[in-house]
Amino acid sequence: LIHVENLYKSFEDGEVLNGISIDIHEGDLVSIIGPSGCGKSTFLRCLNCLEYIDSGTITIAGVTVSRTGKEKELDKSFLEACHHMRQEVGMVFQSFNLFPHRTVLENVMLAPMVVKKASEEEAHEIALRLLEKVGLSEHAHKYPATLSGGQTQRGAIARALAMNPKVMLYDEPTSALDPELVGEVLQVMKDLDNEGMTQIIVTHQMRFARNASDYIVFMDGGEIVEMADGDVLFETPQNKRTKAFLRHFS
Ligand code: ATP
Ligand code: MG
Repeated sequence: LIHVENLYKSFEDGEVLNGISIDIHEGDLVSIIGPSGCGKSTFLRCLNCLEYIDSGTITIAGVTVSRTGKEKELDKSFLEACHHMRQEVGMVFQSFNLFPHRTVLENVMLAPMVVKKASEEEAHEIALRLLEKVGLSEHAHKYPATLSGGQTQRGAIARALAMNPKVMLYDEPTSALDPELVGEVLQVMKDLDNEGMTQIIVTHQMRFARNASDYIVFMDGGEIVEMADGDVLFETPQNKRTKAFLRHFS
């Protein structure tokens, strides 16, 4: 479902992604771990075209975004492909990004109405179904400020799902939560996994990564150093950088 080939991305102060290639299959739940600054967030943002890649190819659900690195500027077909890509990919960030002046229900209704041109009635129906899925039906008419962090984050997931994405990306979705609220958010991801959603999660929740993911990707220095089943990666890491990183968590 996802094919990434030779992805490069740099900012003014240097190369951040140094040739990333990976294939992710439909229904996979993939965790990405790695030290701070290694490029995890940048990689996710490239997958969602929140950052424009310098060179390489990303294909998600048949939509391809590609640059050779020789282009002087972002050409029109590239930008159109990026626009298309964003509609296939839902993203949830660390800090809660629901609109504060709208209820949870209205937040979830917005995407289908604005982007997919759904009628208010259709959007309402979609939103109620998704809020039920993430366990927020009772709180549909509340404003984000009156919810717990875990509830808000589940609302953010519902809002991302309202676009009917083929892939969900999460950048440290539980890092800002009190420990007792982490589980309810991770549970939503497990439920989505059981329904066959394809998900990529950048996380520091090593236990979740190990137990819930189909496999774990270890990144360092803008590269994928190693990827393996959770137990295999934790018990028998092959690369010395992986070993050094995982030592902090054993
Ligand atoms: P963390 O675990 O701390 O979230 P990360 O693996 O997500 O780290 P990134 O946020 O992808 O790391 O950052 C990788 C590198 O790219 C860092 O050196 C960072 O300073 C740099 N970087 C990220 N975004 C930008 C930007 N918009 N402009 C310039 N440099 C950036
Ligand atoms: Mg990050």
